[in-house]
Amino acid sequence: MQIDKSKPVLVTGGNGYIASWLVKYLLEDGVDVHATVRDPDNRAKVGHLLKAAQGAKGKLTLFKADLLREGAFDAAMQGCELVFHTASPFVIKGLKDAQKDLVDPAVNGTRNVLEAANRIASVKRIVLTASVVSIYGDAVDMKTAGLKAFTEAQWNTTSSVAHQPYNYSKVAAERAAWEIAKPQSRWDLLTINPGLVLGPSLSTASDSASLATLKELADGTMMTGVPKMEFGVVDVRDVALAHIKAGYTPGASGRHIAVARSATMWEIVQILKARFGGGYRWPMMVAPKPIVWLIAPTQGITRKFISTNVGWPLKFDNSYTRKDLSMEFRPLETTLVENFQQMLDDGVLKPR
Ligand code: NAP
Repeated sequence: MQIDKSKPVLVTGGNGYIASWLVKYLLEDGVDVHATVRDPDNRAKVGHLLKAAQGAKGKLTLFKADLLREGAFDAAMQGCELVFHTASPFVIKGLKDAQKDLVDPAVNGTRNVLEAANRIASVKRIVLTASVVSIYGDAVDMKTAGLKAFTEAQWNTTSSVAHQPYNYSKVAAERAAWEIAKPQSRWDLLTINPGLVLGPSLSTASDSASLATLKELADGTMMTGVPKMEFGVVDVRDVALAHIKAGYTPGASGRHIAVARSATMWEIVQILKARFGGGYRWPMMVAPKPIVWLIAPTQGITRKFISTNVGWPLKFDNSYTRKDLSMEFRPLETTLVENFQQMLDDGVLKPR
């Protein structure tokens, strides 16, 4: 599908951690961006986007849209050939009602955006921000499936509203998207499935769980020990670039794992410690699994989560993405160091 770069593009959730980089790159590239946000008057949430638009070649227009309001995206989608649907809550901790707070906005929001595309004749391609958690639910799934690494061929079949609700919200939303795309041929659907996204943030007001990740490894939150857990990590700027390549590469298709490489929490700590020194409240050790299992409920984590995620390797094969999108990923070290340096520069984290 050939997309005309002179036409505006829609970015839903344009003020998010990932979407802010996407909007910035598009504007710098001369593309006009229609960005939806929940509150266009909230300077704390959109100020960085207005700043990115100053002096950029593309024009930014903000639209107000909530995922749960039917028809909310129609106005912003008018005239767009390309739609990037990134908006979805990425909240892991402190959830009160997972169905209402995560699953409904993820799934109904995706339906809402894609059904708008069925009404608006200009749309030719939709790039959905999915996740690796719509490929797997728990790390142990890799062993259960007899795999050395996950590919785009797998689907998460183990998450539910009760167990791993964020993962469930992402797989349910991605499944809904493919179902809506299937019966028609005017627009095609591509997904970007990022792992744990890290790297510098353009926004200080995002609720993304990504923003707390490195801070908690250095501020003492995990001082007594980190669980033996592995993540597929990717730089936020590479995730934004992958979206753009997916949008504008005519022959590109399907799902795309966006992961630079896997690393354990302990390895991440060692990389940061080697670069920034001992003056932070780093974890002292890798905590033994039986102890993590025992104390998990006191931390609001289920023992089932520990059993199925701690101590199991987690690997991803990114070869399809590198080929289909001609994509190279930044080294993990660069992502971690630049993320950490920004927290120091912004005073979000202070040496002890
Ligand atoms: P983020 O900064 O919290 O962005 C989420 C965006 O969704 C925000 O713009 C937020 O708007 C919007 N949103 C949430 N609920 C909404 C609702 N009811 N109506 C309208 N907009 C709503 O998080 P992010 O990390 O950039 O995540 C963006 C996307 O990437 C999500 O789809 C997430 O699942 C996916 N993803 C993230 C990661 C990661 O590690 N960060 C990994 C894989 C996939 P407000 O600013 O108004 O809240």
